[in-house]
Amino acid sequence: MQQTVDGVQRLAYLDRPEPVREDLLALAKPLAPAQAFRFAAPCAKSGCSHFDGVDCRLAKRIVQQLDAGVDEIPQCAIRDDCRWWNQEGAAACVRCPVISTHSDVASPQAEALRIAADPTSDVLDS
Ligand code: SF4
Repeated sequence: MQQTVDGVQRLAYLDRPEPVREDLLALAKPLAPAQAFRFAAPCAKSGCSHFDGVDCRLAKRIVQQLDAGVDEIPQCAIRDDCRWWNQEGAAACVRCPVISTHSDVASPQAEALRIAADPTSDVLDS
């Protein structure tokens, strides 16, 4: 669930994974669910434009392009199954709380995320 702290949107993590349900989605109102929640899903691998056949380039770009959002890795109930953690380790987790699919806040961090999330952008990938 997303919250804004000191003008920066951050994720608040659930204690345990919850399946997507209508009553859960309704908690976001009047916002759209994607404005309030970030949803986890299995990696789509070759079905995703960020997958290079081995790694998630989105995770790599985020680690390379974004500043850490927190000092310590958050408590996270999906860590054992998380591709970003298994690929990038703590460097992904200290950035994870500031990753959102929707942002109303204009900031250098939000712009860096927008560029990192664009699979057609020509930044890095080294
Ligand atoms: S990157 Fe880290 S904090 Fe984010 S979902 Fe994966 S394990 Fe959890």
